Order: sequence, then structure tokens, then C-alpha cells
Amino acid sequence: MTAQTQNVPEIELNNGVAIPQFGFGVFQIPPEDTAEAVRTALEAGYRHLDTAQLYDNEQGVGQGIRQSGLPREEIFVTTKLANDAQGHDNAITALEGSLQRLGLEQVDLYLIHWPLPHQDKYVRTWQGFEELLHAGKTRAIGVSNFQIAHLERLAEESGTVPAVNQIELHPALQQAELREYHRAHGIVTEAWSPLAQGEVLEEQVLTELAGKFGKTAAQVVLRWHLQIGNVVFPKSKTPDRIRENIDVFDFELSDEDIDAIGRLDAGHRTGFDPDTFRG
Ligand code: NDP
Repeated sequence: MTAQTQNVPEIELNNGVAIPQFGFGVFQIPPEDTAEAVRTALEAGYRHLDTAQLYDNEQGVGQGIRQSGLPREEIFVTTKLANDAQGHDNAITALEGSLQRLGLEQVDLYLIHWPLPHQDKYVRTWQGFEELLHAGKTRAIGVSNFQIAHLERLAEESGTVPAVNQIELHPALQQAELREYHRAHGIVTEAWSPLAQGEVLEEQVLTELAGKFGKTAAQVVLRWHLQIGNVVFPKSKTPDRIRENIDVFDFELSDEDIDAIGRLDAGHRTGFDPDTFRG
């Protein structure tokens, strides 16, 4: 076990499963490069991998895990249901496909990737997810890109509160209202595009803080996520950045630093709006 592995805190999900607060995202890593990137991340100390059926690289994630030689139970693996596979029966079949591609018998977390309200299928999909949880195909179930209205509907029409909601969240889009809703309902906030895909890294507040701590702006942003309680899994295909991103456990932002980053919130999305995205 590397020093960084030991540094990563775990957060308890609402069904008692522990999730490492820091992980590695593989969106936009080409399938043929994924196994190597995953191996590099695992060597650097990451023990949490975030993929999706849509990323077309679940196979590479599985290969990277096997090539690392690490025991399966030391690695937390999340995948997500593709948008064209919503519905009760489809969801059950789709996870079987993901497990085959990953070469695993069980994932740790399975997410509905987008609510797609125009399809009006996410409640039925969620009922399929509940069955997958009870069947042991996944250790926890959650959602992604759900707005408060979608979470409220699940609360009214199902008996299982999502363990997480994975949403776009970074200094330019801080999602205060959703984060507060999650806190009040026992849902862990996962932040996707935690670096805003690099867009925020030139902000003066961040470069100044980076100078103050002798870190990079990316490390300051990732540290901010951790200190405000988000689960994060930055993506990089660059080995040095993969190592840099997890090296965030030797400094601490002050309350004033966190407030200063708070003022960067601009309600700016880099990705789709969940209310209107149609898959
Ligand atoms: P990130 O915010 O993680 O940014 C990734 C980009 O930033 C890449 O271009 C990368 O470049 C660059 N980068 C990474 N580290 C550094 C660094 N230290 N310094 C400078 N630049 C850096 O964006 P993602 O959109 O990839 O989000 C992360 C993960 O979130 C995804 O991989 C995926 O797992 C998840 N996600 C989920 C979504 C959902 O709908 N649920 C949607 C989008 C993402 P390079 O690779 O060239 O090094």
C-alpha cells in the first residue's frame, strides 16, 4: 500500500459501504489507453475508479485492475447505466454487460447516468437498481445528474435513498442548493469535472493559493473539494498529473481560503443541463 492510499479518507455511504473520497475518472480516456492509465493510477495510490458504459472503456478498467495485481476488494469500482438502457429490465441486463466487460462479479457502486426526464423512465430504472442491489450485483446504488425534483420523485416513489448523486461541481459551479439537499437526506455528493476540465486553473485566487502552499492550482481545487466534503475523481491521461492530483494530503486550506474559492461560483456549466439533456 502506498502512502497516498493511506492518506485518502473514506466516507460512509447511507447503507454502510465505505467509499474512498479520492478516485480516478476515466471519461475520454481512449479504450486502448485505459488499462495503462488505470495501472498508473493504482500505482500512485488511487483505490477508486469511476467509469461508465458510455465511456467505452470498462474493459480497459478491468484489465488495469487485473494487471495491477491488487486484490479486488481493495479497489472501489463505479460504473453507470447508459442512457439508452433505462427501464427496469434493461437496467438489469445492462449491468450484466458492464460486469462482463469489467471482468468483475460485482461493482461497488452503480449509477443512473442521467435522469432524462423526457423519457420518464428513471423511477422504473431505479426499481431495477434496487433489485440489483439485493441480488449483490452492486454494493451500493446511486444517481448522477439528478436535480432536486428528480430526487424528490425517487423519495416519493421508492424506498431506497440514492447513496450518491454525481453532479457537475467545481469552483465555477458550486451547486450550493443541491449539496444542501444531499446533506439533509444522507446522499453523498460526488463532483464530476472537479477541475472544470482545466477551465478554472488560471483563476488568480487559485494561482495565488498555489503559490502560497507551493502546490499547483489543480491541487488547490482538489483540496478544496475534499475539505468541503465532496468525493472527487479527477481524470488525466498524463502520468505526472495522475500522481500530482492525488498529492493533496500535505496542506490545508484555511476558512478564508475556502471562502475566497467560494466567490468563484459563477453558475457556469461546462457540460449538459440535466433538465434538458436528452441523451
Ligand atoms: P476534470 O475536471 O477531471 O478535468 C480533466 C481535464 O483536466 C483533462 O483535460 C486533463 O488533461 C486536465 N487535467 C487533469 N489534471 C490536471 C492537472 N493537474 N493540471 C492541469 N490539467 C489537468 O474533468 P472530467 O470531465 O474528466 O471529470 C472527471 C471525471 O468525472 C470523469 O473522468 C468521469 O469519471 C466523471 N464525469 C462524470 C460525468 C457524469 O455525467 N456523471 C460527466 C463528466 C465527467 P490530461 O488528461 O490531458 O492530462
